[in-house]
Amino acid sequence: MTRLVDKAVSDQRSPTSQSGERDTRTLSGTWFDRTRYHPAITRIWEPRVHRMFRGNTWLIEGRDADLVIDFGLGVTSLTNALDRDVGKPVIALATHVHVDHVGCLHEFEDRLGHGSEAAYFQRMPDEFTLAHLVRTTPDAAGEEPPAGWKCEDFELRPAPLTRIVADGDVIDLGDTFFRVVHLPGHSAGSIGVLDEARKLLFSGDAIYEGRLLDGFPGSSVDDYVGTMRRLISMNVETVFGGHGEPISGGRMKAIAAGYIADREAGGREPFVPSIA
Ligand SMILES: [Zn+2]
Ligand SMILES: [Zn+2]
Repeated sequence: MTRLVDKAVSDQRSPTSQSGERDTRTLSGTWFDRTRYHPAITRIWEPRVHRMFRGNTWLIEGRDADLVIDFGLGVTSLTNALDRDVGKPVIALATHVHVDHVGCLHEFEDRLGHGSEAAYFQRMPDEFTLAHLVRTTPDAAGEEPPAGWKCEDFELRPAPLTRIVADGDVIDLGDTFFRVVHLPGHSAGSIGVLDEARKLLFSGDAIYEGRLLDGFPGSSVDDYVGTMRRLISMNVETVFGGHGEPISGGRMKAIAAGYIADREAGGREPFVPSIA
């Protein structure tokens, strides 16, 4: 078990593993779980949440500011769980507006996202957040949800963006910076952030280990193919996706190439999962 560091660490020499170390500190009771993959990169997720809605939150601790990427389902407070009262600004970046990524976004003051979904962050319409799927999934928050939580009452809190970002914009944490990359296809406003120095990509739902979803309102297979070509051209060592464990840059390229090959073979039927 790795000794944990409580202050921000930015050791450029530290290896970034894809397996990580389970962090045994309890987050807000036992609702959230977390794994640290690097001294300054932590994955936080909700193990009890239904697998369809179990997204990753990433905490990146910088010298002058922290970056939090994606915000879970919103079953219980993420800011309480993060407990980031460390005298630094916290920048909150949503990779896209889907329900499993924006549940607790409203808890943050500085909210970044792509302009093409800005109107949805303001109103959180079911059509684009897919929140209605939570209301019809009795075990959306697991077999034993927190007291008082009922799937049929589920509502996303509006979280208007305070800063609209576009491809090429820079998010500066003092000792490291990230470039915003627009990765449309899964949704129109899907973005990732790239640390070019350390070759790290936080990719949201544009790519991860698993079947990629391209049949939602706002999805575009043609855009997705373009995004895959762009990912294949990127110099990336580790990819921290919107779901599951990190993957290597090589694995990312294989998944991207597989998507393109499927589509070019005529399999252009967009895919959405059935929830069961
Ligand atoms: Zn999504
Ligand atoms: Zn997702």
